[in-house]
Amino acid sequence: MTGRTHDLAAFTTLAAYIATQPAPSMTLATAIGAFFGNMMGGLLPDIDDATSDFWDKIPAGSFFGNLLHPLIGHHRMVSHSLFGMALAGYLLHLLLGVMHHVVLIDMHIVWWATMFGYASHLIMDCITKEGIPWFFPVPVRFGFPPIKFFRVRTGGPVETFVIFPGLLATNAYIIYVYYPSILTFIRSIGK
Ligand SMILES: [Zn+2]
Repeated sequence: MTGRTHDLAAFTTLAAYIATQPAPSMTLATAIGAFFGNMMGGLLPDIDDATSDFWDKIPAGSFFGNLLHPLIGHHRMVSHSLFGMALAGYLLHLLLGVMHHVVLIDMHIVWWATMFGYASHLIMDCITKEGIPWFFPVPVRFGFPPIKFFRVRTGGPVETFVIFPGLLATNAYIIYVYYPSILTFIRSIGK
């Protein structure tokens, strides 16, 4: 999937959570941090692709992307697996723990929002033709549906005209149906 589809998918998980779960109270800074964490989490698994949107979004990204590339390996390997997700979650936990001393936001919420984004990325890539190595280091890629023919080509017409608009429609549906809960959440920020 392309970066913008991943961003939208990540946001959808956040919207669905806010709509259906009693969201914890948070400051505006935390809400903003959670939003950005969610967006970065949605792109983070493509850290193994030096040309990905993830690297475009951080300063000198392509430089670091190319530097890291030989260490992380080929695109859609460890970072697109359950092991990679657990590892990323652990490292993020350490990083946020350090940042916690400098930035006064609720890192627990930011961690969850980022991991929501990460998980959404794996699910979205799972429905593409390539599939993903869920059980890395087992070198087998899995996709859904299991027959490759029915899966989506990254950047292809199905992604552009079905998946992306479908995600937009899902968000519109969530906002329409759960409008009162979303309003309650927005009003609770900073209280
Ligand atoms: Zn990916």
